[in-house]
Amino acid sequence: MLRITKLVPLVSILLVVAAHSSAAHHARSKAAGEAMLARFREQAPTLSDWTALTAHVRTHMLKGARLGQFPDKTPLNPLVHSEVEMDGYKVSNVALETLPGFFSTGNLYVPTRADKPYPIVLCPHGHFRDEEGNLNGRSRASMQIRCATLARMGAVVFAIDQVGAGDSQQSPHHDPISLPLQIWNNIRTIDFLLTLPDVDRNRIGVTGASGGGSQTMQLGAIDPRVTVVCPVVMMAANYDGGCVCESGLPIFRSKHHETNLAQMAAMAAPRPQLVISCGADWTVHTPEVEYPYLKSVYGLYGAGDKVDNLHLANEPHDYGPSKRKGMYPFFAKHLGLSMAPILDRNNPDRVYEPAVVIRSPEQLAVFDDEHPRPAHAVMGREAVYKLFEEATKP
Ligand SMILES: [Zn+2]
Repeated sequence: MLRITKLVPLVSILLVVAAHSSAAHHARSKAAGEAMLARFREQAPTLSDWTALTAHVRTHMLKGARLGQFPDKTPLNPLVHSEVEMDGYKVSNVALETLPGFFSTGNLYVPTRADKPYPIVLCPHGHFRDEEGNLNGRSRASMQIRCATLARMGAVVFAIDQVGAGDSQQSPHHDPISLPLQIWNNIRTIDFLLTLPDVDRNRIGVTGASGGGSQTMQLGAIDPRVTVVCPVVMMAANYDGGCVCESGLPIFRSKHHETNLAQMAAMAAPRPQLVISCGADWTVHTPEVEYPYLKSVYGLYGAGDKVDNLHLANEPHDYGPSKRKGMYPFFAKHLGLSMAPILDRNNPDRVYEPAVVIRSPEQLAVFDDEHPRPAHAVMGREAVYKLFEEATKP
């Protein structure tokens, strides 16, 4: 009996890893992950060692991601349409020209009843499919609920497509170029959000689950504008993420550097961070392996109280209600959002999400017959590679 109960979590973890595409090369044993963290601790026993080490790691992460040279910040030429007003928020469909001829796509959620100025939250969606089975995590109900609820609490929120998902169809997702393109789209989307009226540039959050958690940790490590992060069901010392958009380029190791997702998450220190983990994937050991490591790095800043872990041992690999209900109060505290609009009137201890109206993928579409993708959009893998290589020439 004991054996069976021990087997079930292992089987479910293997299934989740398998679903996370070709994971095998990027997974290692728990002991190997722990050994990496022990090495990282030895390499940086003091704050000055840590800042020197992470400057080095950051440089080589970016070089590995083919972003040793960032592209020029060219005009974003935002296309914003189909705005509708809901209960406490508005939602519209947006394209941003993050490279000349290349578009980042998503939905913008703006509060209608909250106090100004508004903090910003960027929400990447990970490799989840929508309810119709399409690679369109942005339209998935749990993603809409997360984004709209944060807007009802007072944040300007952007739900951003992965490259090759939703309306981002200029280049396929399963190509390593998705990794730097997603980083660049995320950086430029924050640029766009900062141009909106009544936003507060000193309060910027990022949160996502799974592959969206990878994007959250990448951004926390490389974009100093981000002030609070919440990676969900992703941060682990023994798994780098199996998709090419996470580990398809040498961001984790080269002959010059070695890192993993736990160290990448720690690179957000001393900014507030909530790590949400669960019992059904590679985050199963977070409370005893990765969280103490993060705590030790935050401790170098005297900021051990700024990092927290919510571990949901019986919960699956997703950004479901139990994870959202952990994230909302954390973002409320650190971004100055209000919990009041989302609490159940009859039971104020409970978060109430049904005020969010789920829209169809068609209603949330950025490009459709009425709003076609601009004619100068570069189409196809080869053309996008050429554009990216030109833009990142030293
Ligand atoms: Zn991916």
